[in-house]
Amino acid sequence: MNLFPLPLQKLIRDLSKLPSIGEKSATRLAYHLVSKDKVLAGRLATALREVTESVHLCRQCFFLTEEEHLCPLCRNPHRDSSLLCIVEKPMDVISIERLGDFRGYYHVLHGVWAPLRGINEEEIRLKELFLRLDHAPVKEVIVATGSTVEGDATAMYIANHIVGRSIICTRLAQGMPKGGDLEYTDEITLSRAFAGRSNL
Ligand SMILES: [Zn+2]
Repeated sequence: MNLFPLPLQKLIRDLSKLPSIGEKSATRLAYHLVSKDKVLAGRLATALREVTESVHLCRQCFFLTEEEHLCPLCRNPHRDSSLLCIVEKPMDVISIERLGDFRGYYHVLHGVWAPLRGINEEEIRLKELFLRLDHAPVKEVIVATGSTVEGDATAMYIANHIVGRSIICTRLAQGMPKGGDLEYTDEITLSRAFAGRSNL
């Protein structure tokens, strides 16, 4: 029998649904919020409400934005519309923008193509990518998914899908740590991987 009050049990259950938070961590966090720092709990409640109400996905690149339609990156007319960089998640856009040497546009998949786990074209933003490529003046698609088996498979899937169009498909150079997630790759390695990208 769970002796915790019901609202606390609910909070623990919901916190434990977050990535890398198990039940023990969720319990510790919930305990901290209700018994040590109610001010922080209130601020978090407000921040969660605001973020869910005001942050959406950009309708073109699926990066996070406060705008109704296009994010500031997509609205910037000074970027190079012949280059499109495909990433797994919004944090990867931040990592690449930090390098400061990529001037093209982005497309955020929100996952990788992994049919064995039931993640097909419809579950990530691949269909939207191919539709976008029908109309955008893209000459090079740079697949910057992580260097995992699924990241590689996603890159091949995209490359196979755009064969026959006048678009080249490149992949970040080897040298990215195997199993590497862009988010945790240091800037020099990522910058080199970008510069040394090769055709798929
Ligand atoms: Zn955008």
